[in-house]
Amino acid sequence: MKTIIEPFRIKTVEPIRMTTREERAKLIRDTHYNLFGLRSDDVLIDLLTDSGTGAMSAAQWSAVMRGDESYAGSPSFYRFEAAVQNLMPFTHIIPTHQGRAAEAILFSMFGGAGRNIPNNTHFDTTRGNIEASGAAGHDLVIEEGHDPANLHPFKGNMDLARLEAYLTEHGESVPCVMLTITNNAGGGQPVSLTNIRATAALARKFNKPFFIDGCRFAENAWFIKQREEGQQDRSITDIVRDCFAEADGMTMSAKKDAFGNIGGWLALNDDTLAETARNHLIRTEGFPTYGGLSGRDLEALAQGLTEIVDEDYLRYRIRTNSYIIDRLDALGVPVVKPAGGHAVFVDARKWLSHIPPLAYPGQSLAVALYELGGIRSCEIGTVMFGRHPDGTETPAAMDLVRLAIPRRTYTQSHADYIVEVFEELSNIRETLTGYRIVQQPELMRHFTCRFDPIAA
Ligand SMILES: *Cc1c(COP(=O)(O)O)cnc(C)c1O
Repeated sequence: MKTIIEPFRIKTVEPIRMTTREERAKLIRDTHYNLFGLRSDDVLIDLLTDSGTGAMSAAQWSAVMRGDESYAGSPSFYRFEAAVQNLMPFTHIIPTHQGRAAEAILFSMFGGAGRNIPNNTHFDTTRGNIEASGAAGHDLVIEEGHDPANLHPFKGNMDLARLEAYLTEHGESVPCVMLTITNNAGGGQPVSLTNIRATAALARKFNKPFFIDGCRFAENAWFIKQREEGQQDRSITDIVRDCFAEADGMTMSAKKDAFGNIGGWLALNDDTLAETARNHLIRTEGFPTYGGLSGRDLEALAQGLTEIVDEDYLRYRIRTNSYIIDRLDALGVPVVKPAGGHAVFVDARKWLSHIPPLAYPGQSLAVALYELGGIRSCEIGTVMFGRHPDGTETPAAMDLVRLAIPRRTYTQSHADYIVEVFEELSNIRETLTGYRIVQQPELMRHFTCRFDPIAA
């Protein structure tokens, strides 16, 4: 069968408030063309992020009612801990309110001035926590990971030769090795089991602890099952266990592959490190059997972890992305290939080649998607990365627009609608204009800066 059916029925619905193109033109003008400034009920299809925006199942909502809010030793914590350890065999599971809180604790122990921390590609909060500690982060993804058109099956892989050279060069200043699965900042591209094992082996050879940022571990395992030799007949759970068996610990955002609306954890094997981490947790998040979460959150995550490894779900999840990408490709819209796990990336610099990078082609496309179709996406390009600490500006490496797909939230007809909006846009794309920034903060300007369209 060619039609992807969602492997679920819908029990509770949330209405979408319909708007007209004229209304949206005014709404986006009122936010000075910054999509972060929109109210979400003025958006028809919200593809700003897949973080915390997924739909919980009936079983998760039932589990919420079982949540035990005891301050210490709640059974909800023990169910959560068992669900994590069923997939990731670490000794110590430390709950936090989000992934970045787990990172902050990890780098309070492994960061610090003069230290150097490698990763395939650091996610922005990971890099932020590393840099805030005084350390430096370095991205060592394979060369193919930088080329939007390259069809390498594991574009998130660590470049092992560069990692070895890095470990030799930086020696004692490297406190640990990290690997992000899937590689979010690199387009949600997967890392192979072979590469995870080889990265772990290099870390061991140089006597460094090895940590996995496991936010999209189930999507990564699905890609391993599909694309890696010898993995086809194995269960997702077994593949996940193999991935984490290589590591000394992990950080996790449960807003991704744990089907949570909030949550995270830090996992460690080392008892002494875990004690230090828990003391930090008590100061910043809460007692070790709840971290930054309520008992009902822990219950929802425990249940979510049993659902995320379901193959029917993962097949539908990844097919949705490749369906949209194949159809956009057929329309001549340049997209990052192959499809990643959680998002569709459009190469706006290439598609809107009449708009120079410093006039923000990604922002122009993102605004047009909203005005024409009510779709909220996210510019990942010169607006986000183009400005330097000294105030100068240069084009980012790429000008992409990301359409992140929330889990179990939208249907096939929403996917068809997204494609149709691109089809309409392709008729008028030459009329789209660039933007200039008229007001911006010192740091992370993309969240709050204001734009003016440049008259055609
Ligand atoms: C989302 C994310 C984080 C941070 O998690 P939060 O829960 O948003 O704090 C870290 N790493 C990766 C790869 C992520 O996708």
